[in-house]
Formats: sequence, structure tokens, C-alpha cells
Amino acid sequence: MQRHRVVVIGAGFGGLFAIKALKKADVDITLINGTAYHLFQPLLYQVATGILSQGEIAPPIREVLKRQDNVDVRLGWASHIDVEKKIVSVEGPGVDYEVPYDTLIVAAGAAQSYFGHDQFADHAPGMKNIDDALELRARIFGAFEIADLQTDPEAIDRWLTFVVVGAGPTGTEMAGQIAELAHRNLPGQYKHIDPRKARIILVDALPAVLNTFGDHLSTRALRQLHLLGVEVELNTRVVGVDATGIEVETERGHERIPSMTKVWAAGVSAPPLARKLADAAGAKVDRAGRVFVEPDLTVPGHPEIFVLGDMMNLDDEHGQLLPGVAQVAIQGGKYAAGTIKNRLAGKPAGKPFKYFDKGSLATISRFSAVASIWKLRLDGFPAWLIWVAVHLFYLVGFKNRVTAVMHWAISFLGRGRSERVATVQQAFARRAIHEYGDPFERAREEAAASDEASRLSEQH
Ligand SMILES: Cc1cc2nc3c(=O)[nH]c(=O)nc-3n(C[C@H](O)[C@H](O)[C@H](O)COP(=O)(O)OP(=O)(O)OC[C@H]3O[C@@H](n4cnc5c(N)ncnc54)[C@H](O)[C@@H]3O)c2cc1C
Repeated sequence: MQRHRVVVIGAGFGGLFAIKALKKADVDITLINGTAYHLFQPLLYQVATGILSQGEIAPPIREVLKRQDNVDVRLGWASHIDVEKKIVSVEGPGVDYEVPYDTLIVAAGAAQSYFGHDQFADHAPGMKNIDDALELRARIFGAFEIADLQTDPEAIDRWLTFVVVGAGPTGTEMAGQIAELAHRNLPGQYKHIDPRKARIILVDALPAVLNTFGDHLSTRALRQLHLLGVEVELNTRVVGVDATGIEVETERGHERIPSMTKVWAAGVSAPPLARKLADAAGAKVDRAGRVFVEPDLTVPGHPEIFVLGDMMNLDDEHGQLLPGVAQVAIQGGKYAAGTIKNRLAGKPAGKPFKYFDKGSLATISRFSAVASIWKLRLDGFPAWLIWVAVHLFYLVGFKNRVTAVMHWAISFLGRGRSERVATVQQAFARRAIHEYGDPFERAREEAAASDEASRLSEQH
């Protein structure tokens, strides 16, 4: 007899924790993920700034799940969901395939949003995946190298000006780390420039940094950023980004900041799959493309489809939208698995999903962080210690935890950055892919065009 088939789209926090919670369940799970690795996104900025290697935050999914017999890991991007026939269509690398399901868990995360200005991406990469982090690493370390070759003082300034857009946790961490790199790690390594002269500018349209952390911690974070030498431009809206600079509207009026290296950490939107699913299932999406779900995390009218994590729109008991953070996805994954197990055991439906907020953390530099945990507000070193403990706990794999601690010691106790290597391909692949196109997508389009040509010739 065929076992209950659970298909999971996405091996992020939501998908992975759902699968792990189904380890002993009498189900066959198929996991579909666009990459072969699980990504620990909160540490992406450390890959971009040369502290950690990409392998430390992105273990292979197969290795993570090697002791779980009821999972089949399949590489590919889910492109379509037929909610009537209960089939997921997947575009794999050169191989398209379909996977049938009895229960579907969709946890495909979020994509970077440029608020309708996707062209900014060419000049200001986001921070969503390993490609972004390695490209940024190439751009950041490359900027110091190229600055060292310049003779024109204006060109040196342009190469030594780094603009980070978005003063949420990712932007703040990124700005803090570039400042630490320039002012602490790199001085003494260049003969023609002084990296300490680098300008790191953090820009946000809102009037506060880390605005979700409340006034007290936001002010403390701002102070710590100033101590690090980061220039913080609040109430400042980015209206243009090009190869050599960034255009902003500030309280002082329109300004241009000459800068060769820009980082976009400003907005998120749900991936295209969210809208496709909503259209197919007759569900609604919010302005960011997230799918409105029932209190049990299922799509209205489709109790067999769960949507989790960054892709879902659900309010908490106070009417506040649940945030796009790892804990919402993790707890959602465990909740969906529990519901599936209850259903298979013939038990009545459990309570609605209730998010347990364990608190928020953001680092600013070595030994300096802010923590908001229940009623506790901490900053500086104590908050940083909590940050280290929490990140080590959730980092996947014992080996990764050990090597991450070693790399942190090198960067935070010493003055080194162990992972400075960046290749030409990492620096320029985005442009190459734009110009040439994704090779598998091209093959798909060529095959479709050839099918269409044979169909037309048969008709004649
Ligand atoms: C730079 C950064 C820093 C962050 N820092 C923090 C932090 O400090 N603390 C915190 O709590 N949260 C943080 N977050 C947010 C947190 O990482 C997310 O809330 C969490 O990862 C959401 O989990 P998820 O399972 O919904 O999606 P994700 O973890 O994003 O996983 C989605 C998965 O789906 C895959 N996928 C996407 N589309 C498809 C498709 N069509 N087919 C197949 N696979 C697909 C992706 O490859 C990915 O593996 C950060 C996020 C970023 C980007």
C-alpha cells in the first residue's frame, strides 16, 4: 500500500524543520529545493565580508538529511502547482519533472525587492543567497585593491566609499562589518591607500536604525555605529543607483553619493511561486506577494496545502503580522508536521498556530550587539555573547560550528579575515548571466521553439 506522500518545497528553516519533525512519521517525503544546500541566511553577511566560508553556512541538504530514510531530495525549482491533480511541476537543471502529493508544504522563502527598480540589482547586489554574498565579497575586497591602483584622488574616494541601503538587521550588520574591515583588519596592508579613510554610509528611508527593536536599542545601535565610524543617513530615500554612485532624496534635498560599491539590504517580496500558488488555489496575496493563510497555516479551501515562513501572511493574536524571521519559519514547520501526524493518526484538528517570540538579536561589530528578549533589553558585549550562543546553536552541523568558532576567533580576537578569496567569475557572473541567459532556461526556450516549429510544419 502506498504511504502518504508529503512534498516539501524549500529546504530553508521552515521546510527543513518540518521534514525533521516528520522523521518517524509513516510518510514518504519528497523535498524539492532550487539549490543543493540549506542556507543559514543570518550569517550571509559574514561570508560577504570574509569572516566565514560559504560551506560553513550552507551544508549540503543530502548530508543534513542522510540519516532520515523517508526523504527523497530532488534538485530543482518548483514552477507550477496543479492543486486539482495535486502535482508539482519542477524545472531541474536540464531535466523537468513532476511530483505528485497528498500533502504539500510550501516554504520557498522570500526574494529581494527593489521596490519596482529591479535594474538597481546590477549595481547594488542584495543579500539573499550564496551567489549574492560571494559577489559582494569580490566587490568589497576588489574595491580596496582597485583603489590602491588609482592616482586620481576622486577615483580613490569613489572606490573607498561603500553605501549600504537599508538599516534593518542585515544592513546594520553589513555596514558594521565593512567598517571593521576597513578600520581594523586591512590597515597596513596597502602601500598607496589608507583603508581607514574608507567611508561607510548606511542609508534608510525611516527615521531610525533597527526600528523594530524599539527606541532604546535603536539609539544604542546608532551610537555603536557612530563609534565604528559608520555615517548613518536616515530619512533618506534612494531614487537611483548606477555603476559609479547612488542618488538620494534627503531632508537637505537631492544628492549624489559617488560610490563604486553598493549593497542592497532594503526590502523583501515573496517569490513568484507564491502568486502562482495563490492563483491556482484561489487564495489572496498581500502587497509583498505573501499568501494569506488560515490560522492552521493552510491555504483557504485547501487543507492539504501548508504555506510557511517568509512566504505566508498571518497575524498574531494581537493583529500584528508575523515577521519574516527564522523562528516563525521553524515553529511553522514543526506545527505543520504535527498537524500531518495528527491527521494520519485520525486525531481531531489541534489548536491554531501560535508563534512564540523568543526575541530578536542583531550584531553591529565584534563584541557589540543588541538583544531584545521578552522584557530584557541588552546591548554591547552581553548581547553579543547571546548572539554567539544562539547562532552556534542553530548553525547546522558540528563541523561547521567548530570551524565557525575558529574563524570568529581569527576575525574578532585577531585582525585577520580568513575568507578573502574571490574569483573573477564571482565578480562578473551576474552580468554574464544577464547577457547570455541561464543556460538551462535557454535550452528550455530552444526546445519549446523547436517543438513549435515541428508542430507548425506538421500542420502544413
Ligand atoms: C541576510 C539575511 C539575514 C537574516 N538574519 C536573520 C536573523 O538574524 N534572525 C532571524 O530570525 N532571521 C533572519 N533572517 C530571516 C530568515 O533567514 C528567514 O525568515 C528564514 O530563512 C525564512 O525561512 P523559510 O523557510 O521561510 O525560507 P528560506 O530559509 O529562505 O528557505 C527557502 C528555500 O526555498 C528554496 N526555494 C525558493 N523558491 C523555490 C522554488 N520555486 N522551488 C524550490 N525551492 C525553492 C530556496 O532555495 C531556499 O532553500 C535573515 C534573512 C536574510 C536574507
